[in-house]
Amino acid sequence: MSRKILVVEDEAPIREMISFVLEQNGFNAIEANDIEQALDKVQEPYPDLILLDWMLPGGTGVSLAKKLKQNEYTRNIPVIMLTARSDEDDKVKGFEAGVDDYVTKPFSPKELIARIKAVIRRVSPTSLEEEVEFHGLKLDPVAHRAAINGNSLELGPTEFRLLHFFMTHTERVYSREQLLDNVWGTNIYVEDRTVDVHIRRLRKAISGEGHEEFVQTVRGAGYRFSSKLKKQSALS
Ligand code: CA
Repeated sequence: MSRKILVVEDEAPIREMISFVLEQNGFNAIEANDIEQALDKVQEPYPDLILLDWMLPGGTGVSLAKKLKQNEYTRNIPVIMLTARSDEDDKVKGFEAGVDDYVTKPFSPKELIARIKAVIRRVSPTSLEEEVEFHGLKLDPVAHRAAINGNSLELGPTEFRLLHFFMTHTERVYSREQLLDNVWGTNIYVEDRTVDVHIRRLRKAISGEGHEEFVQTVRGAGYRFSSKLKKQSALS
């Protein structure tokens, strides 16, 4: 599953160069050339990161960053500012607005990719290759093995990816579309109800010691992977 990066930059040659570099490095690049377009594109499924130019028509990148960081749905999307100014005052303004890092123009593709990877690592502490553990459930993405308290699980490839996604994104509700995008990938056409089928299979595969209750249906919203029982969270 490739990570989606929104490139907000009004200078077409720079924007296209960045997108090209991103795609070459396995990212899925989407583009916006001003604040309005950027706001249009910050929709579900949300980008994994935003590269944001400092000077844009109709406002500064910082004002957009501020707006995104104030919204509960977008505040966790990391933002890297692209700036021609390396001025300390400006950086302070950006960091106050919640910007995660800076890349000063001109930059090399290598530097840009390194910064992006560093920010992604920082915000999502579990790398895609790390073994994950959750209440007796253990999943090793490299060896492609999963187990509950040492007893290995029989999982299909989709259930495996679904479980991995859930274990690295606990306590948050994901819509079927978000799950499709994250687990199946953006370019594949699958019906929403396919998600339900695989959720049922996953529940079955991890049942036995009660772990199936972690996969919770949130009516009208989607699914959540949580160790808190639904009844308890409904009361609190
Ligand atoms: Ca600009």
